[in-house]
Amino acid sequence: MPLSRREFVATAIAAALATRGAGASSIPWLDTYRERAARLIGAALADSFAWNRLAELTDTFGHRLSGSQALEDAIAWAVRTMRDDGLENVRAEPVKVPRWVRGRESLEIVSPYPNRLVMLGLGNSVGTPEGGIEAEMLAVSGFEELDRRAHEAAGRIVLFDVPFSDYGATVTYRTSGPSRAARAGAVACLVRSVGVEGLRTPHTGMLSYRPDAPQIPAAAIPVEDALRLQRLAGRGERVRLRLSMDAAMQGDADSANVVAEIAGRERPHEIVVVGGHLDSWDVGTGAIDDGGGCVVAWEAVRLMKALDLRPRRTVRVVLFTNEENGLRGGLAYRDQHRAELGDHVLMIESDGGVFRPNGFGFNGNDRARATVREVATLLSGIQASAVGPSGGGADIGPSVQAAQVPAMALDVDGSKYFLFHHTAADTVDKLEPLDVARCTAAVAVMSYVVAELPERLGS
Ligand SMILES: [Zn+2]
Repeated sequence: MPLSRREFVATAIAAALATRGAGASSIPWLDTYRERAARLIGAALADSFAWNRLAELTDTFGHRLSGSQALEDAIAWAVRTMRDDGLENVRAEPVKVPRWVRGRESLEIVSPYPNRLVMLGLGNSVGTPEGGIEAEMLAVSGFEELDRRAHEAAGRIVLFDVPFSDYGATVTYRTSGPSRAARAGAVACLVRSVGVEGLRTPHTGMLSYRPDAPQIPAAAIPVEDALRLQRLAGRGERVRLRLSMDAAMQGDADSANVVAEIAGRERPHEIVVVGGHLDSWDVGTGAIDDGGGCVVAWEAVRLMKALDLRPRRTVRVVLFTNEENGLRGGLAYRDQHRAELGDHVLMIESDGGVFRPNGFGFNGNDRARATVREVATLLSGIQASAVGPSGGGADIGPSVQAAQVPAMALDVDGSKYFLFHHTAADTVDKLEPLDVARCTAAVAVMSYVVAELPERLGS
């Protein structure tokens, strides 16, 4: 029988408090943190505060695309609310971000069987001329087929009909596909959505134009529409499409990274960063990607304050701006904090959705890895004690690379992430309050203990 929430919380606290049984190698240094870790876990799991805060963020402001008023309003709310929470050194650090506006958009089959298709323009795409672009479609299964049939691509709308395998392998068609197609002479580009099959769900996301190719408009279509177009082409039909997009880049806009702290009591200049990105795509409400990561990082610091657990070093929460279509927040943090990056002890990012946590991915030296593995055992009661490879994240990446900072990523059950990623279905109801609380507990305990260690992590 599954545990009730109350039993689950009691078990999680007991697991944090339990010293190792006889026969196991004892780690006395860890025992000194058990009581405080248990308090953080108990407070995180006590209620649905984190989920409710995420619901408030996403219900109030909706999507938070870079350059939108909604993002700036959410930033102002976060600053106000962090101050109300009693966080320290709360400030908005200015960042210029690109403003891309989607506008109206549509895709239709003109012939042989006129019909409207489902689509979603890709972020940073140029628009079409008034009235759209009408051309015959060329469907290809990947770059190899495009290269082989390059002579057929001129004047066509190229469709990259590539099944989703994993994100890294498939996303290249979204980011590089438009320029590859343009180099072959295509006039517009479509990509099969980078995500698992949903309910005719298109996934947006950023494209990157290369300087050596004309900029052509590009959009994603759902799996179902890609399969339909592929079947039509397979029957030898010449399919003519019309793509209309008002999309445009409108220069730079003012935005900011939100920064707040609990200042260290002995070594305030040494810093553990916890963060996520507050901006989102413009179609859902950015709860999974990445409002949840922001709230969990924020909660970690709020709970330390609320429980009066002031660590030896500073724990700093950073809500980065513009991860999705520019990474300007992560780059600005690196540049604005360059002088203190060497004092960054650890940077933790949560940007995989705050689903049920498994633990963390970690990049750092072997000594540091051994330490964080032991710290993570405090999370065995919430089944979040795994420490795997692949730490880091897009926002912390520039700083991590610039100063070789040890980096961590919250690792969660990712089975549903690419169902909702960059879609209109990225909303808070997809997340379970207890999972969000568990993620909060994991980030709070890890960041607190690393900030509290007598010796700097990895030294
Ligand atoms: Zn994200």
